[in-house]
Amino acid sequence: MYDVIIIGGGPGGYVVSIRLSKLGKNVVLIEKNELGGTCTNVGCIPTKALLNASHLYSEMNDKGKRFGVTAEELSYDVGKVMKHSKKAVTLSRKGIEHLLNENNVEIIEGTAEIVDKGKIRIKENGAFVEGQNLILAQGSNPANFPPFENVEGIMTSDDVFSMEKFPESILIIGGGYIGVEFATFFSSFGVKVNLVEVLDQILSTEDKDVAEDIKKSLKRKGVKVLEKTEVTTVEKENGTFTSTIKNKEKDEQQELETESVLLAVGRKPAITEDIKALGVEIDKGVITDDHMCTNIENVYAIGDIKAKYMLAHTAMHEGIVTAENIAGIDTKMDYSAIPSVIFSNPEVASVGLREKDVEKEKIKVSKFPISATGKARTMEERIGFAKVISDEEDDTVLGLTIVSPNATEMIMEGVIAVRNKLTTLQLMESIHPHPTLTETVLGALEKANDREIHI
Ligand code: FAD
Repeated sequence: MYDVIIIGGGPGGYVVSIRLSKLGKNVVLIEKNELGGTCTNVGCIPTKALLNASHLYSEMNDKGKRFGVTAEELSYDVGKVMKHSKKAVTLSRKGIEHLLNENNVEIIEGTAEIVDKGKIRIKENGAFVEGQNLILAQGSNPANFPPFENVEGIMTSDDVFSMEKFPESILIIGGGYIGVEFATFFSSFGVKVNLVEVLDQILSTEDKDVAEDIKKSLKRKGVKVLEKTEVTTVEKENGTFTSTIKNKEKDEQQELETESVLLAVGRKPAITEDIKALGVEIDKGVITDDHMCTNIENVYAIGDIKAKYMLAHTAMHEGIVTAENIAGIDTKMDYSAIPSVIFSNPEVASVGLREKDVEKEKIKVSKFPISATGKARTMEERIGFAKVISDEEDDTVLGLTIVSPNATEMIMEGVIAVRNKLTTLQLMESIHPHPTLTETVLGALEKANDREIHI
């Protein structure tokens, strides 16, 4: 009998296993595919490896000559680009396996079928595993629905990593962060990309000015961005996809021919019949309280299966909160400062409140362009900004949005500020190094305090 059974070895499952083991618990982790889950195998890690390769290529293509750095004949090799991505995946997965072994986590390779909250059956060999606590960390899968699910050859993000050649043209359905990251990747390598989003703007969870800047940068790479547009049918004939796209505003319809189609319309939590039969409360995903407990005693849920934030760092932190609660340390999950990161070019990162989500009278919005910083000039980067949202009355930082190269690294300043309720003055008085892109955030903080220098 184990203290804890964990189903799923993604960022949620492997982190909770290690933390529980360090807290003295006897744990077993059941994984049906590869350790590391979506993030390591077909998500965060391989996409960022691909994007690093495409970024290098497009920087050389775009800036090389102007900066005086040229290669005789700049080219790329799809096989090697993919190999680079696979290497990053393998190294990350081996690292996770090593950490789990070092921490004496027992790993079972197989599909867990929940018999009851204390008993799991391994589908492949019929063996039973028993435990006192159960953690649901089964993650999510790419969403796929009519009219797309029955068309042969439409890719989801899972399929991109096994591509042997790039298409000449691609239709990406869905302008969320996954669609935008793949649009950035393919267009950097010269693929003709059509990015179609049914909502009013791409990156719909972010403010309009963010979407506008990213649209501008994608257009510069030759991407055709179609917002308020629905893909109503897709057909494949002689290796070519013909899609009907309909502009919802103008009620116009047109046909689009592309060599590939990538469906990036979100992810669905992996809620199987045995999870439903367990009796846990479910809305879009499995519901928990802030201690990560479901409505059933000793059953917890973390990560994408909850369909809440669907980010690896959220899954990991929920894992840590769960482990501590199981070990008797009263810990609550704090969702107030979860950074969102998009690896477009420039990158987007945000935390806390967005401008669109708050009443204008209660907040102060202070924005500063990256083009006014020395560092951006050294990089010849002009698109982007930092936007600080603060409380009109007490100056607390309520949110930070950054569009900039390295925004995903720069956002930590905002995470710390929002989480710890720091004021814009406190941040502004913290010296920002020069010349760095963090001076964009400084500029916005100075503006919040009516103390602008560089604008
Ligand atoms: P998962 O990683 O999905 O892991 C769940 C695991 O459970 C899987 O390995 C699965 O095989 C296993 N499993 C399921 N059912 C069973 C069963 N019955 N028995 C045994 N095992 C089972 N997030 C970020 O924070 N940053 C990013 O840059 C980022 N980029 C992404 C890019 C892409 C293309 C995609 C698709 C996702 C990206 N994400 C990113 C999201 C991130 O991958 C997920 O939020 C994260 O993996 C969720 O972790 P998880 O542990 O909840 O689930």
